[in-house]
Amino acid sequence: MKAIRRFTVRSVLPAPLRQLEQLVLNLRWSWHHETLDLFRAVDPDLWETVGHDPVRLLGEVSPERLSLLAVDRRFLRRLQDAAEELNEYLTAPHWYQDLDDAPEAIAYFSPEYGITAALPQYSGGLGILAGDHLKTASDLGVPLIGVGLLYRHGYFSQSLSPDGWQLERYPTFDPNGLPLTLLRDAAGVPVRVTIGLPQGRDLHAQVWLAQVGRVPQLLLDSDVEDNDQAARDVTDRLYGGGGDHRLLQEMLLGIGGVRAIRAYCRISGHPAPEVFHTNEGHAGFLGLERIRELVSESGLTFDEALEAARAGTVFTTHTPVPAGIDRFPRELIHKYFGGVNEEPDVPVDRVLALGAEDYADGDRTVFNMAVMGMRLAQRVNGVSRLHGEVSREMFGGLWGGFDTAEVPVGSITNGVHAGTWVAREVLDLAAREVPDVVESSRGWERVRNVPENEMWRVRRTLRERLVRDARRRLRESWRQRGASGAELSWVAEALDPDVLTIGFARRVPSYKRLTLMMRDPERLRALLLHPERPVQIVIAGKAHPADEGGKRLIQDIVRFADQEDVRHRIVFLPDYDMDLGRSLTQGCDVWMNNPLRPLEACGTSGMKAALNGGLNLSIRDGWWDEWFDGQNGWAIPSADGLAAPDRRDEIEAGALYELIEDHVSVMFYDRDPAGLPRRWLEMVKHTIVTLGPKVLASRMVRDYVLDLYAPAATSGRAMAADGYAGARALSAWKQKIIKAWPGVAVEHVETSGEESPHVGSNLPVRVVADLGGLDQGDVAVEIAYGRVDDSDALIDPAYLELTGGEPVENGLLRYVGEVPLARSGAFGYSVRVVPSHPMLSGRAEMGLVALPPAPHGMTNGDLR
Ligand SMILES: *Cc1c(COP(=O)(O)O)cnc(C)c1O
Repeated sequence: MKAIRRFTVRSVLPAPLRQLEQLVLNLRWSWHHETLDLFRAVDPDLWETVGHDPVRLLGEVSPERLSLLAVDRRFLRRLQDAAEELNEYLTAPHWYQDLDDAPEAIAYFSPEYGITAALPQYSGGLGILAGDHLKTASDLGVPLIGVGLLYRHGYFSQSLSPDGWQLERYPTFDPNGLPLTLLRDAAGVPVRVTIGLPQGRDLHAQVWLAQVGRVPQLLLDSDVEDNDQAARDVTDRLYGGGGDHRLLQEMLLGIGGVRAIRAYCRISGHPAPEVFHTNEGHAGFLGLERIRELVSESGLTFDEALEAARAGTVFTTHTPVPAGIDRFPRELIHKYFGGVNEEPDVPVDRVLALGAEDYADGDRTVFNMAVMGMRLAQRVNGVSRLHGEVSREMFGGLWGGFDTAEVPVGSITNGVHAGTWVAREVLDLAAREVPDVVESSRGWERVRNVPENEMWRVRRTLRERLVRDARRRLRESWRQRGASGAELSWVAEALDPDVLTIGFARRVPSYKRLTLMMRDPERLRALLLHPERPVQIVIAGKAHPADEGGKRLIQDIVRFADQEDVRHRIVFLPDYDMDLGRSLTQGCDVWMNNPLRPLEACGTSGMKAALNGGLNLSIRDGWWDEWFDGQNGWAIPSADGLAAPDRRDEIEAGALYELIEDHVSVMFYDRDPAGLPRRWLEMVKHTIVTLGPKVLASRMVRDYVLDLYAPAATSGRAMAADGYAGARALSAWKQKIIKAWPGVAVEHVETSGEESPHVGSNLPVRVVADLGGLDQGDVAVEIAYGRVDDSDALIDPAYLELTGGEPVENGLLRYVGEVPLARSGAFGYSVRVVPSHPMLSGRAEMGLVALPPAPHGMTNGDLR
């Protein structure tokens, strides 16, 4: 019989063990080995049975065992130590506490979080990144508040059918069985967040509080009795439905999330966030809620509130794949933000305008969450240098008239949280040389001092651990696929702890090309079965439940790996999650990555491998494009100019085989008399020394704080001061500029000395401009200059602001300046007028520019 309700009964701990509960409720344990050791000591066998989930451990440990521990002096001492250590971690000042004028608090919104495998509220890289961001913020003392949704079924867990087809299961989570507490007000009543829906319905949510080290994380959960069934199901699963369901999730996350923060700050006394960070467009509605607050509480107009809100908002875009951008039919937005559900202070027309693709090539029928994100955030970034470039291209339409390089989208390259991803053995080895290795960006040079035999021993240990873990998973998977124990004796021999091990694990959208390695199955077979230099490959990945194509790719791999002659050298391990990810990135010698460049925004699994002494073998995409240096791994040449996808796959797969055959495996098996692969270890050291400090999430979070959060807080304060005088003034100024702009023009441009330019001379330029009635201080008249290409386009131009502004005639003004001719060769220049205001983040911010009537760039032939 099926239970009609389920709940989790928590055990009551004997008084001397009460601190265990505190330790379990702070997710710091997920990256703190000593605390995990302590949990293991509670009941080592049970610890394995419950899959290292401390909440389940405490739920299932026997009362007898607990009474024994309650009088075990050694255990109690360890418990006391762990509790004290946690307390110190939570209260001691850290990196952030030394900063001046840093934001009092930052709200971080993400639709998914990968904190630990025991909280499977993530599907892939976006969530893992968000989890690492929170943990690192905690380590650095950054006062972040995380906001997300609690999905009753999380993301699916994956298994295989006998013929290798992906099967999905959605386990039900009882929040009471997770390391969460319900947010309650002072009177003990659970907090309710409510947002209005069409037809007078309401969507209610309760708020769960997770403690990620120092960082509180608020998770909204619509599964409450005040909701009708449809509303209860809003937070049923991660990326479950489309259309209405998805929109409701995003409304709850963005709008409900801001309301949850207000409640949390009121109850806990936590300072209110000065900066709001939207991790991907899904949470973008938070800007609307902040506008609503400002209009109704501070009496601002919509436009003034928009300025005040966007000054303190940061938006991070995560996908260069247009299909990966969240878009809704405009009618849907109308349905939920208009009619009786329209907020008087947030008119639906204004909402629609924020997400409109009203630029060349835009689709006029959709509402684009990323576009709204960019209009509601003054600071926008991609997640690697290359992704920044691609994003500037992709969203350039929003800043028409500006060169791609000037599109105000920057980049901060992702990083990974060492405490979560780096094997303890590696951390211990590195810590001998670099004491605060986890946070430090200095001193990594000293990793070179680690003796090579010790480094190789640790690598062997990790590979062997992976092999053992893989065999266990393989056996379990085959059992599920219907094999009997007797048929599975071969599994004990599957994989070999001394064979070169290549890992490949990721979600399975087509651009990641899971099956590229199988392009020529015979060549792959030969690699696997090479008599002297065999290779073994461990593969994992989940396809989105609706992605039949992805499931077929998995099936192709599984069928190949099922063959008797290769099954000991290539395995597919189901249910890629953080635990498996950790095992793979720690144990593999080589981490393989072959996306279609430039569709991998960053990728972080290869960073995890690098920190553990794995070498990357990757297409130059995402982070690898930026940090591959010729000696820290291998770059698979990519044929990304090639239009024919099939031909491109063929070329890139050919290059991949060749690299493995002729370089990777040769180097791995090249041993000195002591059995050490010297050249390999040299490469491992070089990787750790050069990449280590870069790929750390502590570098990433510091970058976010210094480059985005602190400036956003400064802008936000300038907007808010004196009863939002700054926001009112900026908004009024922008209105004035927009109105006057059609009258702004570059009338003509004069130079002298173009006849005989030579290097080192200056080119005097005079520009006559019409400011359309604007004041001189409202604009900058600039000359752009530099090298030009064959079609006279300026390449990476420099900009020089012209001065003067003397009236000539008819209200026109003359500006002058001198262009330095610093280098020989083809040279050109052009002129423009742009809005200028100290509160703009850059010249392109408003997307307004006046250019000369005909392109005035001119080529002068070779400069002498
Ligand atoms: C690290 C990680 C990811 C993200 O890695 P990519 O390189 O971006 O694919 C996804 N899923 C899991 C389980 C991970 O551990």
